[in-house]
Amino acid sequence: MDFEVNYDVAVVGGGIAGVAAALQAARSGKKTVLVEKTILLGGLATTGLVYIYLPLCDGNGRQVIFGISEELIRRSIQYGPGDIPENWQQGKNAREEERFRCIFSPASFMLALDEAVQEAGIDVWFDTLVCGAEVNGNRLTGAVVENESGRGVIHAKRFVDASGSSILARRAGVPCLDANNYLSIWSLEYRQDADPEGRNLSRGVTMCFGGAWANGETSMTDQELARVGLTREILRSGPYRGISGEKVSEFVLHTRNCLREHYRTNYESGKYDRKSNFPLKLPAMPQFRKIYCIKGEYVLKDNEHATFFEDSIGLLADWRKAGFVWEIPYRTLYPENRLGGLLAAGRCSAASGDAWEVTRVIPSAAMTGQVAGLAASLSIEKGVEPPDLDVRLLQSELRKLGFPIHLADVGL
Ligand SMILES: Cc1cc2nc3c(=O)[nH]c(=O)nc-3n(C[C@H](O)[C@H](O)[C@H](O)COP(=O)(O)OP(=O)(O)OC[C@H]3O[C@@H](n4cnc5c(N)ncnc54)[C@H](O)[C@@H]3O)c2cc1C
Repeated sequence: MDFEVNYDVAVVGGGIAGVAAALQAARSGKKTVLVEKTILLGGLATTGLVYIYLPLCDGNGRQVIFGISEELIRRSIQYGPGDIPENWQQGKNAREEERFRCIFSPASFMLALDEAVQEAGIDVWFDTLVCGAEVNGNRLTGAVVENESGRGVIHAKRFVDASGSSILARRAGVPCLDANNYLSIWSLEYRQDADPEGRNLSRGVTMCFGGAWANGETSMTDQELARVGLTREILRSGPYRGISGEKVSEFVLHTRNCLREHYRTNYESGKYDRKSNFPLKLPAMPQFRKIYCIKGEYVLKDNEHATFFEDSIGLLADWRKAGFVWEIPYRTLYPENRLGGLLAAGRCSAASGDAWEVTRVIPSAAMTGQVAGLAASLSIEKGVEPPDLDVRLLQSELRKLGFPIHLADVGL
């Protein structure tokens, strides 16, 4: 090894979950490092050009997500366009139809995230890939990293895997769950007549939803599909599972082939030409929705919205269905095999099917990230492993941070 360093808390992945975890750990007084393989913070939300901060409210005018998730929605528009509905800005519950969400410019949000982590005194290691784990007995003791300085080990008392793909957990031998993905691409484009009421960022610049091709459903004709190397059968069989180099390349190239087809079609129709409509920025990470999450001591399942969990650590809103609110058990944040030293956050926390749709999005990633950062800190202070942390202590500290813990806390 070329280097070895020691921290209280090491967070793997500088996406929304990782930033939230690192902010909370650092604000709890822990020496914290945030390791990110790119040179940008925000993960899929920014580098991946996802630009909608989904709702912190239940769709019936009731806020259910608080804490760093709320702080980050406000920071997301600090250096750029985007609006939070007026009622929510004043901290009052909004009219039902206006959900507490906003559209942001990914670049603006990246600048704000940089500022947040620097203010908190977090050591950020950009351009550093976590590629292995050091396990002693039933404890994770190190993350093996590689960067231009060589290969080294980050030792820490606690690790938070916020990599979006549970890389550290998998390298440490933790069983994980995966899922199918469907083909879609979101990118940033110039369009002369960009709809000012739509997903417009500034004059002419708009967010482009190139299209989603789930279960073979597409508006593209067989001929158009053939032109981009796809068939209805490929779409139907849901091949986008697995993250080998080959699989990632297949997925990414298919999405970009579809985007080229989108522009060819626009130009052929005569509605636009290459000067009035063209791509400005493509996502710099694969837009997989689900990769691997840990197999937690509890795996949140379909239809468990409105379910009481004794060990709930907060609430999540369902972005698709008004009135669907989920309690999130603490047991989804650590592995079923109770490996010491490790917590998971964001899309790495344990969920399946429909429940994963709820836990994987931006406000949810911030919420579970903050809880993982707090649980990491408290478990160090109490000298216990994360699975043995007194959940009532965690709940009481979360309440001090403004978290509702159970549905009843928000009148549900
Ligand atoms: C097409 C698409 C559209 C979406 N639309 C929305 C939407 O409109 N609104 C919404 O709220 N959510 C949306 N989502 C989901 C949401 O963007 C993500 O699920 C969420 O941002 C995930 O956050 P995360 O922090 O858990 O993971 P990620 O964003 O994946 O962050 C993980 C970070 O870890 C880093 N990393 C990974 N491996 C390593 C390693 N080995 N070493 C070091 N660093 C590593 C990555 O570079 C990344 O920065 C969408 C997702 C997709 C794919």
